[in-house]
Amino acid sequence: PIPAASNFIRAIIEKDLAENKYAQKHWAGSPGDAAHQSTGQVDFAKIRTRFPPEPNGYLHIGHAKSIFLNFGLARDYNGVCHLRFDDTNPEKESQEYVDSISDMVQWLGFGWNNNTPDGAETNLYFASDYFDVMYQAAEALITHGHAYVDEQTAEEVRINRGTLTEPGKDSPFRNRSVEDNLRIFREMRDGKHADGSMLLRAKIDMASPNINMRDPAIYRIRRAHHHNTGDEWCIYPMYTFAHPIEDALEQITHSICTLEFEDQRPFYDWLMARLVEAGLLANPVPYQYEFARLNLTYVVLSKRKLIQLVEEKHVSGWDDPRLPTLAGARRRGYTPEGFKLFTDRIGVSKADSWIDYSILEDCMREVLNESAPRKIAVLDPIKLVIDNYPENQEEDCYAPNHPQKPDLGKRVVKLSKELWIEREDFMEEPAKGYFRLFPGNMVRLRYGYVVKCLGCEKDAAGNVTIVHCEYLTDTKSGTPGSDSVKVKGNIHWVSAAHAYEAEIRLYDRLFKDAHPGSGDKDFLDDINPDSVRSITAQLEQSAQEANAGDIYQFERHGYFVADRKDSVPGKPVFNRTVTLRDNWQK
Ligand code: ATP
Ligand code: MG
Ligand code: MG
Repeated sequence: PIPAASNFIRAIIEKDLAENKYAQKHWAGSPGDAAHQSTGQVDFAKIRTRFPPEPNGYLHIGHAKSIFLNFGLARDYNGVCHLRFDDTNPEKESQEYVDSISDMVQWLGFGWNNNTPDGAETNLYFASDYFDVMYQAAEALITHGHAYVDEQTAEEVRINRGTLTEPGKDSPFRNRSVEDNLRIFREMRDGKHADGSMLLRAKIDMASPNINMRDPAIYRIRRAHHHNTGDEWCIYPMYTFAHPIEDALEQITHSICTLEFEDQRPFYDWLMARLVEAGLLANPVPYQYEFARLNLTYVVLSKRKLIQLVEEKHVSGWDDPRLPTLAGARRRGYTPEGFKLFTDRIGVSKADSWIDYSILEDCMREVLNESAPRKIAVLDPIKLVIDNYPENQEEDCYAPNHPQKPDLGKRVVKLSKELWIEREDFMEEPAKGYFRLFPGNMVRLRYGYVVKCLGCEKDAAGNVTIVHCEYLTDTKSGTPGSDSVKVKGNIHWVSAAHAYEAEIRLYDRLFKDAHPGSGDKDFLDDINPDSVRSITAQLEQSAQEANAGDIYQFERHGYFVADRKDSVPGKPVFNRTVTLRDNWQK
């Protein structure tokens, strides 16, 4: 494994560990504590991070950055990472999303309940399991004079919040008594008030330069069915209130989020301090750190836009191989090792920037070059007939499974009189510098013989249909003296009688603009109309045995994966993962 480069978060953690900041047992009885004890370990010197997706969509490549960061820190510092479903917003959440997120986290190599292959300790939590504690925390804020029920309309709340240049105005309900606030908040909980008729707000400072501190909403009335708690609640906590409490209950030490949340940190700290004062939490409390989210060219990494692409059927579904969802990336043939290399390479910083999509592709190439066995595939087939080769004869040629790994051995590819070659490997009138097949020229059939081109046949429209050649019988690769004839061209081929005819999807970028939707364009207008092309190719026989998810390098072409949805045993369909070289036309 590649050691992760140091970054500012690692520096903070190393300092905290050196100071033994988390050495003391605290928050006894919290869920983190219980889970920890059930594993037989009570080691509170550990750091704890969390990956907290909201189950309202599929994970995308940006989430992979956060997953490798949080789970990776836990692994490297012998800490714990929590997979936490941040499911406090019932309308947009569903079990389907919970399932796919779990699936993808595991796919990237992390599990929970110590079920992680690389040994990192992890645990699984649902924020909705804490609704009772969140409710208690809200009552505690009320009791201590730090929250009030506001009955202004949503519009009034918005207007009275003020702007960046103007302070907000106090709500007429701001100075209710503690008793009234408590009574009305309980009525809210008990379903006595209509949805949207009132809000519980933290009482902080309507003149704060940080608008997030101008009495933010912390609970709202919403009669919505929740995928975990059903109809138990008709009030739900706001994300900004719920999230710090989730972190505290799970004894998270380093709560790492993206830069958009920097402005929320004062509220995060305010809430922690109030809950410590109220005796609900003990120090040290969790602390929030922000890092730059991943911005990747040629894709969109926003759940809202991804949902739009799927629902409006611009793609075939959440796992369309062109989508930057992890489900799509897996179907495309991208690998967890490739994502790990990518996240290590781009690092973690505090400043937003754009990462070029080709960096991700390079990482996938690098990893696949190492791991993918080689196969031969002719993507644009044309017949090559060896005129002097006997009819009905066939023979074995031997192709290495991986040129840099001789221990992976060789496999048999059959040679016979009629072969498929790439259309572009023949030119009747050769261009300057062309050294593949043209009348009179000699090339090597890779792993086979040297052949001399004799000419071609054409159809009425003048298209070449068959190329003719003759082979030099004593030039077979791997036999003594085989290289006595020197040739410049070396082309791949498959025997027509033995070939597996397969459907292959050639994928390209889904967007033609590096920054889809930049300027005043709609991002949908930047969709690349040629992002997929389906072809019928001729593959070497052994490719027919591919299992769904197997990835190969098709020599001279790139990396291809047997599609996990449309392949059936004995009839795999392949997706192009990435070409051998970057050939995107900018
Ligand atoms: P979106 O903005 O697409 O709706 P989100 O941030 O709302 O995504 P969550 O499910 O809340 O999605 O994200 C879970 C975690 O993943 C959060 O901690 C978030 O910071 C992180 N994350 C989301 N997008 C990115 C990104 N592009 N780069 C790095 N981390 C990300
Ligand atoms: Mg979110
Ligand atoms: Mg978001």
